[in-house]
Amino acid sequence: MATFRAVRIDKTETGQTAKLVDFDESELMDGDVTVRVEWSTVNYKDGLAVSGKAPVVRRFPMIPGIDFVGMVESSTHPEWKPGDRVILNGWGVGETHLGAYAEKARVNGNWLVPVPQGMTGREAMAIGTAGYTAMLAVMALERHGITPDRGPIVVTGAAGGVGSVAIAILSKRGFKVIASTGRLQEEPYLRGLGASEILDRKELSAPGKPLAKERWAGGIDSVGSTTLANVLAGTRYGGAVAACGLAGGMDLPTTVAPFILRAVSLLGIDSVMCPQSVRREAWKRLATDLERGKLQTMTNEIQLPGVLVAAPAILDGRIRGRIVVKIG
Ligand code: NDP
Repeated sequence: MATFRAVRIDKTETGQTAKLVDFDESELMDGDVTVRVEWSTVNYKDGLAVSGKAPVVRRFPMIPGIDFVGMVESSTHPEWKPGDRVILNGWGVGETHLGAYAEKARVNGNWLVPVPQGMTGREAMAIGTAGYTAMLAVMALERHGITPDRGPIVVTGAAGGVGSVAIAILSKRGFKVIASTGRLQEEPYLRGLGASEILDRKELSAPGKPLAKERWAGGIDSVGSTTLANVLAGTRYGGAVAACGLAGGMDLPTTVAPFILRAVSLLGIDSVMCPQSVRREAWKRLATDLERGKLQTMTNEIQLPGVLVAAPAILDGRIRGRIVVKIG
């Protein structure tokens, strides 16, 4: 019986358990590409899945982990052959399809994108789903016509994964970045990534007025709830805010005022089912628009068992930047 090391989530009478096991290869789900997984990462959603704090996992047993990079071991998919280096983000992997915290994965070849030329596997997962989502958000703002001369961009959840990568990309693109954080001690880190102003997240988390002073041309928001409402209220005429996350809550207690009085747009960002053409464009841009040195300063490395410790930590907002998980 061939086995490989994996984190497995099982359903129990009281909830779920997550532990490191030897997983039987014959239990892998259907797919036309088998990948030897080399690196994964810990995103907020992985924290929810591993800790069972939200119903992310829809099938048991489950191998969590929503993204990986690895080497194709075997393939019947026309685009992929053994030895190809591939990235996977989303598509229900780690939720409904056995996921990334394992030495092996079998997936649908249509879900994969090539690792961009010149990018290492470790770098690809230091970016991970959080970083690729940040790129999707920047691309959405650009599509809306937001350029550096329109004014600064506010990034909420700034010291987290999406926030850190968003700051680095925006500053490389020439934007002035206002970083909103609850961890004011991280000011040197955030300035190092390219933020030119730091905002205490308390200023955005309490209920505010429908319209506030116009402070930024746009925003990238990982937090949701009253924070997103206040970001919208402070957006300049004709600006746009990309909504990516819910770290502060899933609700959105806003009014129509920013939309109908200031022509502000709210742009939805989804990384999971994002069409292939857009995700390939995002990964191509990540190869050029994100400084590798900055990526390195925001990244910490753990091994597979460390996932069980990192999962609750990311939900508590205790992880700075990005975590890569060395698997292969
Ligand atoms: P992280 O935990 O790394 O970052 C979230 C950050 O939000 C924290 O670091 C913290 O930043 C801030 N934060 C945490 N809790 C609160 C709170 N209660 N109130 C206000 N701010 C808070 O997570 P990720 O960067 O991986 O993900 C961020 C969000 O984006 C998550 O909600 C995630 O689900 C979502 N996401 C969505 C995707 C999509 O496809 N739309 C894809 C990837 C992520 P600080 O300490 O600086 O204040």
